Amino acid sequence: MSYLQANDVAKRFNGTSALAGVDLAVEQGESLALLGPSGCGKTTLLRILAGLEVPDRGDITLEGETLTGPARFVAPEQRRIGMVFQDWALFPHMTVARNVAFGLGKAGSNGRVSETLDLVGLSHLADRYPDELSGGQAQRVAVARALAPRPRVLLFDEPFSNLDTGLRTRIRADVAALMREVRMTSIFVTHDQEESFVVGDRVAVMREGRIEQVGRPADVYQNPASSWVATFVGEANVLGGVATNGHVSTAVGEVPLAGPLRGPCEVVIRPEYLVVGRGDQGVVSAVEFYGHDTTYQVALNGTKLVARVIAAPDFAPGDRVSVSYAGPGAAAFAAAGS
Ligand code: ADP
Repeated sequence: MSYLQANDVAKRFNGTSALAGVDLAVEQGESLALLGPSGCGKTTLLRILAGLEVPDRGDITLEGETLTGPARFVAPEQRRIGMVFQDWALFPHMTVARNVAFGLGKAGSNGRVSETLDLVGLSHLADRYPDELSGGQAQRVAVARALAPRPRVLLFDEPFSNLDTGLRTRIRADVAALMREVRMTSIFVTHDQEESFVVGDRVAVMREGRIEQVGRPADVYQNPASSWVATFVGEANVLGGVATNGHVSTAVGEVPLAGPLRGPCEVVIRPEYLVVGRGDQGVVSAVEFYGHDTTYQVALNGTKLVARVIAAPDFAPGDRVSVSYAGPGAAAFAAAGS
């Protein structure tokens, strides 16, 4: 049995299904990212874990104890599950130490506050006020406030979505590193694939009230469970072809397959595995240069492909090019109806 489990959890709102039987298992000390498009049920699942919502069916267990089930319901404040929301601003008129003490409520002690500040490496800032902190330090204090009551699990609901891009990239890496340092069991809800890969030891990909796949970021990226997952976690060209003997013949030639499959299929080709050269197969329709790499859109036999190369652009819109595959075995799925 895993540290935290959701078993067959289902929830409807006004007759519409929000969760359609979700199983999730989180290990102690692990950071799990719950990734999916808006409306797929992430927040509902998080709220059910915290005890803020009651499911129609299923149960939640933590350390083997049932928190939510047909015959038992533990109140949110007795679960020792902390929740961090988007707006986790500090109180400007309180010092760092008092902000952290606030997380402890009336039962707080100075000992626990200084222990917690120690844990997150902020003891030297205990007497500062929030406006004397950098953005990163302020976020650490906010995390310290959530950690102070020693939750068994910390739940983050889109915690970084109010931050602008530069700060967001830095802070999410810092918070994720901190969760790993203190071996806090944590779940981060996000709709942002890149974010889920940075913060999650594993990623659970949700779609329409179900979990489609759970795995380490690299596994989900390389071996997506469906072409929907493939296109949701990063860019993908999904090409039709016919699979035989570990290969599929496609518009970009022979592509090796990651698994056994025969017959008509859809194969997932990541843009970074396409090689663009001088040739006569297709026409470049757009070029985007990002500094660290370049993407080409290429029209090839009526198919629009995206290729990503680590180089400054060699080709311009209108140029005729060849496109071939140079990558590991690709994921493929039997074509619908075959
Ligand atoms: P996500 O966090 O992935 O964006 P939510 O869990 O917030 O998704 O919502 C899942 C579905 O349940 C959505 O269709 C949403 O409109 C619906 N929903 C969520 N909470 C409520 C509520 N309190 N009342 C009615 N419908 C709700």
